[in-house]
Amino acid sequence: MSVIELTDVVKRYQNGEEVIAALDHVDFQADRGEMVTIIGPSGSGKSTMLNMIGLLDTPTEGTVHLDGRNVTDFTEDELTEERRSGIGFVFQDFHLLPMLTATENVELPSMWDTSVDRHDRAQDLLQRVGLGDRLNHRPDQLSGGQRQRVAIARALINEPDILLADEPTGNLDQDTGETILTELTRLKEDENVAIVAVTHDEQMLEYTDSTVRLVDGVVTEVSGR
Ligand code: ADP
Ligand code: ADP
Repeated sequence: MSVIELTDVVKRYQNGEEVIAALDHVDFQADRGEMVTIIGPSGSGKSTMLNMIGLLDTPTEGTVHLDGRNVTDFTEDELTEERRSGIGFVFQDFHLLPMLTATENVELPSMWDTSVDRHDRAQDLLQRVGLGDRLNHRPDQLSGGQRQRVAIARALINEPDILLADEPTGNLDQDTGETILTELTRLKEDENVAIVAVTHDEQMLEYTDSTVRLVDGVVTEVSGR
């Protein structure tokens, strides 16, 4: 069963007099243990798609299912709860807090959860992304690739169903980008998450299981399934 599924999704925006369809009858799905890449030029609807999959915004038409549940008509509070427990976010500019250590950054999204030993889990995750010797370093003491590993560990702290990555290699040189993509490929299986990446970087397609190509809000190609 798909962990995230968009069915016939339309998202319209009102731009003054004009109404534009940022997404125009789009279908999408991703499974655990799979990496799906959404690729397209600027303005093609990638961010809008990311907002739908990340439950950050709701469609004008169509439905969104998370883990088999229809979340399309959930309230803002319900969506926030689903995001918190179900989705980990990774951004191209890492979004780490500069005054916190790697471990503290990773712990942050789980602060509300008193049922687990956050500290241990954060350190364990950092070890699993190869940063066992950087646990107490601050972001400015880490390389770009290491920062992105911290961000990936942080995204996994609440054991999400989906890891949603917005241009995860956008601020990295090619070699570092490839290392991060290799890491993601390993994690999708080890952590049993669906990885959904949004990018305009064709290099990412070498690492992905399936590709959804967007042009002007329309899916023009689905490959790998
Ligand atoms: P991408 O991420 O591929 O660059 P977006 O999803 O950001 O594409 O945008 C798709 C289209 O929707 C663009 O034409 C953009 O101008 C429009 N759009 C996106 N967000 C809004 C908004 N909040 N209000 C009006 N138009 C928007
Ligand atoms: P863009 O793709 O347009 O450059 P960003 O990558 O900054 O924009 O953000 C993509 C989307 O993720 C935006 O809609 C933004 O509101 C949302 N977002 C940013 N930070 C967070 C966060 N910490 N948690 C959840 N959603 C976020």
